[in-house]
Amino acid sequence: MSGLAPLDDVRAEILGAVGALEPVEVALVDAHGLVLAVAVTTSEDVPPFANTAMDGYAVRAADTAGAGPDTPVRLRVVGDLPAGHAPDRAVGEGEAIRIMTGAPMPEGADAIVMVERTRAEGVEVWIEAEVDAGTHVRAAGGDLTRGQEVFPAGTLLGGAHLGVLASVGAGTVRVFPRPRVGVLSTGDELVESGSGRVEPLAPGKIRDSNRPMLLALVAEAGFEPVNLGVVRDDEDRITALLEEALAQCDAILTSGGVSVGDYDYVKAALDRLGHLEWRQVAIKPAKPLAFGVVRGTPVFGLPGNPVSSLVSFELFARPAILQRAGHPFRFRPEVMARAEHAFTRKPDGKLHLDRVRVEWSEGGYVARSTGNQASNALAATAAANGLALIGDGDGVQKGEAIRVMLLNAAPDH
Ligand code: AMP
Ligand code: MG
Repeated sequence: MSGLAPLDDVRAEILGAVGALEPVEVALVDAHGLVLAVAVTTSEDVPPFANTAMDGYAVRAADTAGAGPDTPVRLRVVGDLPAGHAPDRAVGEGEAIRIMTGAPMPEGADAIVMVERTRAEGVEVWIEAEVDAGTHVRAAGGDLTRGQEVFPAGTLLGGAHLGVLASVGAGTVRVFPRPRVGVLSTGDELVESGSGRVEPLAPGKIRDSNRPMLLALVAEAGFEPVNLGVVRDDEDRITALLEEALAQCDAILTSGGVSVGDYDYVKAALDRLGHLEWRQVAIKPAKPLAFGVVRGTPVFGLPGNPVSSLVSFELFARPAILQRAGHPFRFRPEVMARAEHAFTRKPDGKLHLDRVRVEWSEGGYVARSTGNQASNALAATAAANGLALIGDGDGVQKGEAIRVMLLNAAPDH
């Protein structure tokens, strides 16, 4: 079919036009979900000192030679060392210091005998096991060594990363900022929703489902949602609103008004502010898409039908904004599943994206439709955890392999 642009071409065009945000320095506690803009190198050893991995006794390994359950060796206990305290004396020949997990190894001691292999008796302890030097000792720098690169630039910071960065004494990190993403609904038919107040529906009106949906999807992606409200089909008002939003957002999503209808003013408004590309993408749902970088800010004119809006966000806006946030991976993982039933379709020059539920069953994924596949039927989409990618043709037979993009999984490419 002529005039339709392949999905991959449109994606490549958009990703080619969207740059990363200027990196900022943020406190470690605020860096969760952000991407490192520069590598982090540690100036400290982790652990910072040699310490014990067990509760027990710090000893000289040589003193335990020949010790066993029936041949215990007796040592003099010369100290008691809890975690968080520095040793105040060394361990000499024939001596031991009682020690708790995490406490520093005292001078002179080179091994730990775990408490389960000992028997305390007054100021002495019976050692019932022979240990080699280094037993249950955690070396200084055993996890990370001073001068070592801890994480390269491009690392997405999760919980474990923040823990590691805290362990090396990183107070702040240089990251790509969390993009502020404005969400605007357009349409004369829309009644405001989601704020707690519920208006009755006058004839011809519907509730604005796209804005609450997109604001949530934006937050789910790790971006900061900015609610731009609902605007009527009025070119001047849309233009004014977008003008304001461009100043405070790192990306903007509008929905509605990008089809070929008589009242589709989003395209016109954006064209007044800057150049806008309008594409008919060879996919179903979500064929129309307006895209442009206006005054440095990418703007996505998503289609109005809620399912199309979601799919368009997923395929175009989300990867582009992830790129803006410095993410090395932008695309959801795909798996091959077995079709639980036939996915029939007709040749129309488009890639079909059916909403499906995929489950792991008997060593593989199985996919089944979540129901009504019309582009306004959002309920079936809410039940989906995947988009089945069904290429142009007659569809996929029951039991055949079907390609599925996983909707809830972190990007892997
Ligand atoms: P449009 O792209 O403006 O022609 O809208 C296409 C379809 O999506 C129409 O049926 C609209 O009523 C519907 N629609 C547009 N915006 C929304 C919205 N925010 N929430 C729910 N439906 C919408
Ligand atoms: Mg409209």
